[in-house]
Amino acid sequence: MAIEDVMIIENSSVLYDEILSHRLGLVPLTTDLDSYVLPEECSCKSELGCNRCRATLSLEAEATDESRYVYSGEMKPENPEVKPVSDTIPIAKLAPGQRIKLEAYAKLGRGAEHAKWQPVSSAAYKYLPKLSIDPKKCNGCAECVKFCPKSILAIKNGKVTVEREIDCSLCRECERRCPQKPPAIRVGWDVSTFVFAVESTGALPPARIVKEAARILSKKAIEMRKILEEG
Ligand SMILES: [Zn+2]
Repeated sequence: MAIEDVMIIENSSVLYDEILSHRLGLVPLTTDLDSYVLPEECSCKSELGCNRCRATLSLEAEATDESRYVYSGEMKPENPEVKPVSDTIPIAKLAPGQRIKLEAYAKLGRGAEHAKWQPVSSAAYKYLPKLSIDPKKCNGCAECVKFCPKSILAIKNGKVTVEREIDCSLCRECERRCPQKPPAIRVGWDVSTFVFAVESTGALPPARIVKEAARILSKKAIEMRKILEEG
């Protein structure tokens, strides 16, 4: 969920209403996927939405004697399940006498439409690394241990061992540094297994993001099959 519409009641800050709204839109909100529906799938068909497709947050801030920052934590959510992920995101700076009063409407959306609806800050995948060491060839010189940028190799009883295989970045530096020709250590990977890393903005737990993404993907595949069968 992200803020999509903002009703500005008062804004005497130096920020234009549009900039203020844009900043509010980019504040990550905790998302309650089970209580809300996408605005286009809601039965209300109203522009500002209803209780099923929007969550209201209000903000009232004023600087009296000293200038001060307005932070995301000052937004008051109507539904406690939909609130800023962090309370310390600066929204505006107010000089004495300046005031902001507004009502913001958060709605569900998709990252394809606007980055503010993207629940993921970084996602990456790699094949599952598989390292093999030929014990007959390895003389325990430890050159590979020294040069591995991820420090996943160690020396035990004069032989090289792999400590955390999953952290291998598949750079093959160990193969290049091994004085044996061909190298005693070999970097390979399992082409049938991915290591998938997902970092959430805090809007949803990472496992839920992956599950929802898979659900959307499968829905699209079913639609695609339907189109092909009809065509
Ligand atoms: Zn609605």
